[in-house]
Amino acid sequence: MKITKIEPFILHVPIAQKQISDATNSISHWGIVGAKISTDSGIIGYGYTATHAEVTGDRAIANIISKALAPQIIGENPIEVNMLWHKMYNQANLRWVGRAGIVHLAIGAIDVALWDIRAKSTGQPLWQHLGGSTCEELEAYNTDIGWLSNPIDSLVRQSQNAVNEEGFRRIKLKVGQKNPTADVARIKAVRKAIGPEISIAVDANGKWDLPTAIRFCKQAEDLDIFWLEEPLWYDDVESHARLSQATSIPIALGEQLYSIDAFTLFFENNAMCFAQPDVTRLAGVSEYLRVADAAYARRMPVAAHVGDMGQVHVHLSFFHEMTTMLEYIPWIAHCFEEPIKVENGLYAKPQMPGASTTLLASAEEEFGVAL
Ligand code: MG
Repeated sequence: MKITKIEPFILHVPIAQKQISDATNSISHWGIVGAKISTDSGIIGYGYTATHAEVTGDRAIANIISKALAPQIIGENPIEVNMLWHKMYNQANLRWVGRAGIVHLAIGAIDVALWDIRAKSTGQPLWQHLGGSTCEELEAYNTDIGWLSNPIDSLVRQSQNAVNEEGFRRIKLKVGQKNPTADVARIKAVRKAIGPEISIAVDANGKWDLPTAIRFCKQAEDLDIFWLEEPLWYDDVESHARLSQATSIPIALGEQLYSIDAFTLFFENNAMCFAQPDVTRLAGVSEYLRVADAAYARRMPVAAHVGDMGQVHVHLSFFHEMTTMLEYIPWIAHCFEEPIKVENGLYAKPQMPGASTTLLASAEEEFGVAL
């Protein structure tokens, strides 16, 4: 098989709530920047990275895909993903300008499309192609109610609804306000409404400094918080290690780490308890699996961050033995041939060949942005 054509695409998909905010970001659309890879066998692979739908950055990623990466791999055999990943990653001029960031996101889009082709060529969904499923039930945790922009009354009502009507056993609430006491009040209200059995994780999106995070933890320690996610600046290994020492609340992070090397630093400094790798940030499935295996070596649970909104991560989560659960934010499910599906708080196992990344033509038409 040979790669014959690589076409970049940009989609800006409006989110259901129209506008949401966490402690750091406020967005109205989810950006999908990707690559459609054609082959001489007729198989077409789709892969994408994720953004906050900012057109200048999205076009820069699309440019790297079409002008810098595509020429390196057109004519090659798409099945040789490992070789092609290293060929893209080790291209000297690109490495000089971006071992992380835009170049890495672009490699991720292509890598996912190559894995999509690999799985399609064997007629298997990706989880099966990788070696099969290691769990029968994959729990979903609901992030999509917990935004800071959601007022406390509606947060409580939606939390009850997620638990009592939709069957979720796990939810995540955004925190990270200037005054952490306000965050604690929201958690207490939800805890009171949904009872002691439901798992509540919280996420500060990198907003706090160490003293503020310690203040929050002191106030929140008796609320049975499942994890505290991204309490501090994303790359600050030492402060995360100090916070881990100072609190009994487990620390989770990884959605903003671009490489296995970054994860290794956090692992080796005892700066986290849950790893949250993301294919859209980590240059694709290839590097994701390296991180998940490194977590395995430490018996550290993995709960992927769904920059892809779960389409690819559902495969990786059913496949990898360190997975404990998967985040649920269904913003872009309607764009795909085989959308993610969660029932009674559990993810359905994908059945179609590939990585569940094949876009519907209608989505490309409706949400497509000029390159
Ligand atoms: Mg997060």
